[in-house]
Amino acid sequence: MDKKAQKEIRRKLIKKACETSNKMIRTQEKIMEELASGSSRTFVENHTLSNRSKKPCHLISLAKRMESIEEALQKLEDNKYGICECCGKDIPSQRLVSIPEARRCRSCQEKI
Ligand SMILES: [Zn+2]
Repeated sequence: MDKKAQKEIRRKLIKKACETSNKMIRTQEKIMEELASGSSRTFVENHTLSNRSKKPCHLISLAKRMESIEEALQKLEDNKYGICECCGKDIPSQRLVSIPEARRCRSCQEKI
């Protein structure tokens, strides 16, 4: 990956990090509102019980995304960016353009 592409990826990652952190703040605010208005039982049901069978808590998935973005930025610094964590091959740049925080190539991701 050339310097120009790296710069573009870094810009995208930082933008994504900002968006994700804004979403996290909004989600936290929602949770706080819920806590203030409802009983703690409803809160627990909404954020743990119901999510066990459905998707993970929104806040947790946002935190995980944030972690991946931070890791990707770190890898850019260390010149290790764009390498699949599973097979060690280069992640196709087309994939990195659409998902700059991708940690695995498509075929490894599909195996999970
Ligand atoms: Zn791979």
